[in-house]
Amino acid sequence: MPELQHVPGTFDVLPPASERWEVLLSTFARVAASAGYGLLITPTFEELSVFQRVGESTDVVRKEMYDFVDKGDRHLALRPEVTASAVRAFVQHHPTLPWKVWYAASNFRYEKPQAGRYREFHQVGIEAFGSPDPDLDVEVVALGWEYYAALGLRRVELLVNSLGDGTCRPGYRALLLEFLQARRDQLCPEHQARLEVNPLRVLDCKKPGCRAATADAPRQIDHLCEPCTAHLARVRAGLDALDVPYRIDTGLVRGLDYYTRTTFEYAGLALDGAQNALGGGGRYDGLVAEMGGPDTPGIGFALGLERILLAIDAEDLDTGQTAPPLDAFVVDFAGGETARDLTAELRAAGLRADRAFDGRSPKSQFKSADRSGAALALVVGPDEVAAGTVAVKDLRGGAPQVTVPRADVVEEVRRRVRG
Ligand code: AMP
Repeated sequence: MPELQHVPGTFDVLPPASERWEVLLSTFARVAASAGYGLLITPTFEELSVFQRVGESTDVVRKEMYDFVDKGDRHLALRPEVTASAVRAFVQHHPTLPWKVWYAASNFRYEKPQAGRYREFHQVGIEAFGSPDPDLDVEVVALGWEYYAALGLRRVELLVNSLGDGTCRPGYRALLLEFLQARRDQLCPEHQARLEVNPLRVLDCKKPGCRAATADAPRQIDHLCEPCTAHLARVRAGLDALDVPYRIDTGLVRGLDYYTRTTFEYAGLALDGAQNALGGGGRYDGLVAEMGGPDTPGIGFALGLERILLAIDAEDLDTGQTAPPLDAFVVDFAGGETARDLTAELRAAGLRADRAFDGRSPKSQFKSADRSGAALALVVGPDEVAAGTVAVKDLRGGAPQVTVPRADVVEEVRRRVRG
C-alpha cells in the first residue's frame, strides 16, 4: 500500500518547528488583548450563502471555494476567510457595540499551491464592529503594524488607499469603466471578459497588458466625496501621530468586494514580489446590512501566518524558544512507581516534568533525560527506594549531586529551578 500523505496544498507542522507557530499565536493574542479585543471562534464550515453574499464577483468565492453538499442536503462551504463568518456571528448574536474580536483560524481556497500559497492556510485577524470613526481605522491598522514589529520584522511596508463609499464609488466606477472600455483590447483575456462585472479588479491585475492599460487610469483617491476625503485625512493624521509609516497606493483594491473607504495591505519587502502580501484589510461599512443585519460599520484585517514565517526566514530572525524547557526528568529503574507518582506531583505543583516509559535501562533513560533539555534528573534506583530518597542531578550546570528525602523532592526542584 502506498504511504499515506497529506493532500497537495496542505502541510503538517511538527514539534519543534511548531514552536514558531506558538510564538505567532501567543504574540497576536497579546497584541489583540492589549487593545480590548476578545477571542472569536466560529465554525470551519458555513452555509455556502454566507460566503456568496460577501463577494459573488471575486475569485475567492467564484472559483476557489471548497463547497459541498452534506448528507442532510445542505450546501456548505469550508470558510475561505473569516470576516464573512464574523459578520454572520454578529448578525446572529446581536452583541453590544463596539464589538471588537480577534481570531486565529485556517482558511480553505482551491488555489494553485506554490511557495507561500496553500489550499489550507492560516490567518490571525481582528474585526471591529460599530464605529465609523477614522480613529478606529488607525487603531486597527496600527495593531497589525505593532504585531509585525513585536515579531521583530523590520522590512514591512504599509500601503493605504481609500475605495470611497456608496456616494462616490459609483461615479468613479463609471469613469474607470469608460476609461478601460476604450482600452479593452490591451487587457488580459479574463479582464476583457469581466470588465463590466468589476472594473476595479483590473487595477489589481499583475499582467503586463492590464498594467499598461491602467497606468494613467483615473484614481478613486482623486474622486472621493467630501466625507471620504475627511475620513482619509484623519486616518493619515492618526498614522502620522502614532509614528506608523505608510505609503498611499492608489492601485490597492484588494481581492474581496466588500471594502469601503480605508483599505490597507502590509507587504513583506524581504519576500519575492508575487507572494509578498503579508496581510491586509479594510473597512466594510455596508457588509453587515448586506448580510441581513442592522446597518453597522466594521473594519478588520487578516494576516497570513505562512507568509509571516517566510518573512521571518527572509529577514533571518530568531523567534526564540517558546516551549519552556523541562524542569525535571525522572529516571526510575526501580519499577516505575516513583516516576509515575513524582511526575504527577511535580506537574500539580506547577513544574514541568517528564519521564521515560517501558522500564528502559538506566543508560537509555539518562540519554532521554539529556535529550529532553531538563534542568534536573531525579534518579530513583532500588537503593533510593529502600532509603526513601531521590538523587538530584544537575544536567545543565556543574552543581554536585545531592540526595534528598522523597517527601522533600518537589520543594527541592522548585527551589533549584525557580530560585
Ligand atoms: P485575503 O484574505 O485574501 O485578504 O488574504 C490575507 C492574507 O492571507 C494575505 O495577505 C496572505 O498573507 C494570506 N493568504 C491569502 N491566501 C493565501 C494562501 N492561499 N496561502 C497562504 N496565505 C494566503
